Amino acid sequence: MRKLLFQSLIQPPLTETAPAAEAAALAELATSLGNEARRRLGRSLSVREVDAGSCNGCELEIHALNNSFYDVERFGIRFVASPRHADVLLVTGPVTLNMREALERTYQATPSPKWVVAVGDCAADGGMFAGSYACVGGVSAVLPVDLHIRGCPPSPTALLKGLLALLESAANGPSR
Ligand code: SF4
Repeated sequence: MRKLLFQSLIQPPLTETAPAAEAAALAELATSLGNEARRRLGRSLSVREVDAGSCNGCELEIHALNNSFYDVERFGIRFVASPRHADVLLVTGPVTLNMREALERTYQATPSPKWVVAVGDCAADGGMFAGSYACVGGVSAVLPVDLHIRGCPPSPTALLKGLLALLESAANGPSR
C-alpha cells in the first residue's frame, strides 16, 4: 500500500496531452463562426438538434461540440431546447416515417430567418438505411435543406466548418 502511494506521488497522471495545434485551429474556426453569427444576426447563433431517426453516431459528434474540449458556447454558439429559439435546425439520420410529422412541426415552429442543415450521410440521402420500408429518405425529402454536411459521422470540426460556410453563404442570399 505504501509502495502504491509512493508511486502515485511520483508518476504523472494517466491522461492524454491535449492536441495543441488542433485546439488553436479549432478556436480560430469557432471564433470566425461566432463573429459571422454576430455580423449576420447581431447576436449568438442558436442551434436546435433534431434526430429524425439516426443511429446516434451523428449525435455523439454534435454533443462533443459542448464538451470541455470544444466548448463552443464560449464562442457564441448555443444549443437550445426549443425550435422557437433556434436559427438553425441540425437534422440527423434518415427521416423515418414515425419522425416525419415531428420534423415538419419542428420546422414550422422555428421562426424565420431559419436554416436547415442535414448532418451525416443518412440525412443527405438515407445513407445505409436508404430504401428501408421505415424511412422516407434524406431530410430534403421532407424539408428544404440549406446545407449538407457529409460524413458517417462528420467530425465536430466538420460541423463547425459547415455552419461557418452556411452563415457566409446566407449573407449573400435569401433565407426563409
Ligand atoms: S451518417 Fe453514420 S453516424 Fe450518422 S446516423 Fe447515419 S449511420 Fe449513424
